[in-house]
Amino acid sequence: LSGEAITAAQIDSLKAHFPLCMRNLHSALRRDKHLRHFGRLQYGLFLKGLGLSIDEALVFWRQAFSKFTDEQFNKEYRYNIRHSYGLQGAGRNYSPYSCQQILMDHPPGTGDAHGCPYRHFSVDNLMMAMESQMGISGDEKSVLSGVRQDVGAKKYHLACNRVFEHLHERELKREKEAGGGVRETIVHPNEWFDRSWNLKN
Ligand code: SF4
Repeated sequence: LSGEAITAAQIDSLKAHFPLCMRNLHSALRRDKHLRHFGRLQYGLFLKGLGLSIDEALVFWRQAFSKFTDEQFNKEYRYNIRHSYGLQGAGRNYSPYSCQQILMDHPPGTGDAHGCPYRHFSVDNLMMAMESQMGISGDEKSVLSGVRQDVGAKKYHLACNRVFEHLHERELKREKEAGGGVRETIVHPNEWFDRSWNLKN
């Protein structure tokens, strides 16, 4: 799938291959029928990196922002979505944010859903998100205590990679047995998606 076009209708099912930051944004979008500016940018550029075209992006965001009228949507949001695809304003074509950018730039405030949960959530909220977003139950103690240690040591990438390895344990083992599997640490949400997709498909 990576590099191929995706449609607005596929996004809910692709969420199973998203890292925590993007699952959190997707859930917030479905819950609130809205995301604030940096959330739209972080998530919108990630989806663009997945291969969502501008036309499909407009369909996706229009449907997702269902509490707004067409007039409000066109006035408040359409321009910004087109802008992030380089079709308005200076025409700059923005790239999806790396983990480093998400960790360092524009820390989220109250009511924001962007950022990196490993860095920006309290430990309690992060543990809840492990279960609600990543499906890791409280019984899976070794991965959860590893995540706690990583975030305590401010090693947010490590926590995220640890979760990736846990969720793809079987596939990674198979890959290793087949002679592959020496991997760099994941440092980009789109890389998380690509690796997850390739391992599971
Ligand atoms: Fe997202 Fe990167 Fe944070 Fe993982 S480490 S949740 S991919 S920003």
